[in-house]
Amino acid sequence: MSIQWFPGHMHLTRKAIGERVKTIDVVIEMVDARLPASSANPMLRELLQHKPNLKVLNKADLADPERTQQWLQWYGQQQQTRAVAMDSHHSAPARALIEACQALAPGRGSMDKPMRVLICGIPNVGKSTLINTMVGKRAAKAANEPGVTRREQRFALQDGFYLFDTPGVLWPRIIVAQSGYNLAAAGSIGRNAFDDELVALELLAYLQRHYAALLLARYAVAPSADALAQLPDHALLEAIGRQRGALLPGGRVNAQKTAEIILQDFRSGAIGRVTIETPAEFQAWQATGERL
Ligand code: GDP
Repeated sequence: MSIQWFPGHMHLTRKAIGERVKTIDVVIEMVDARLPASSANPMLRELLQHKPNLKVLNKADLADPERTQQWLQWYGQQQQTRAVAMDSHHSAPARALIEACQALAPGRGSMDKPMRVLICGIPNVGKSTLINTMVGKRAAKAANEPGVTRREQRFALQDGFYLFDTPGVLWPRIIVAQSGYNLAAAGSIGRNAFDDELVALELLAYLQRHYAALLLARYAVAPSADALAQLPDHALLEAIGRQRGALLPGGRVNAQKTAEIILQDFRSGAIGRVTIETPAEFQAWQATGERL
């Protein structure tokens, strides 16, 4: 079973980005450092038309630092691409972005040749947070609610340096089955597109293989990390539910509630700094996995 997700209005966003990109010098694509490939939208590559590209692995504070280095190296091999990892709440790395843009588009950034930077990324990846950090006031999210004027799309950062927010909503596009699970685990696709329990079981199985010690530290449901890694995923979910008191009347474990706890713990970083895909794994999924 895989996650099916067909959001509407993609063609409008495609058109809007295609138009906007014509006058853009550098495109910043923000991805989630815990799932960099799955949180990218492959449509962007085709729309960017050789524009210099800066990948921002955001939420790096929640990701596994060693794996973040692997991803940075991997992106570094692509042409006209630079990659940085950051926590967009902090302004120091945000300033590093300005320098990276200047390196990608030398000669731009003056009054007569302004630098125009487009920030793209799927919902919730941290675009508004980054813009707020860079622009230095609560600029971006102001108008994301119904009835409020359309949110501002262009921000002057300094003289001759402009940031543009994604025009429209760039939904994720799932091309391999595992990406669906990873996006769901991160909370990046609508809740009614997936089953919490199934997604939590997939996540647990992955974390058992790669982060058993962190699971043990969070949930202490086995005598050792090795023993925890050996548990069947259903048994692990049940043990976590019991330990956290997620029980139904009569004492059975409430699997739905337990799944919500596990997903929430992953999203908030309570399980620790984990990254749920590597460049090699993603390439393998593309080569051999179920394609959607
Ligand atoms: P947007 O939909 O892409 O504009 O995303 P937002 O900027 O609204 O961010 C979505 C959520 O992620 C918010 O709760 C932010 O506080 C959080 N967030 C954004 N950037 C980071 C980051 O670098 N690290 C962490 N831990 N959380 C972040």
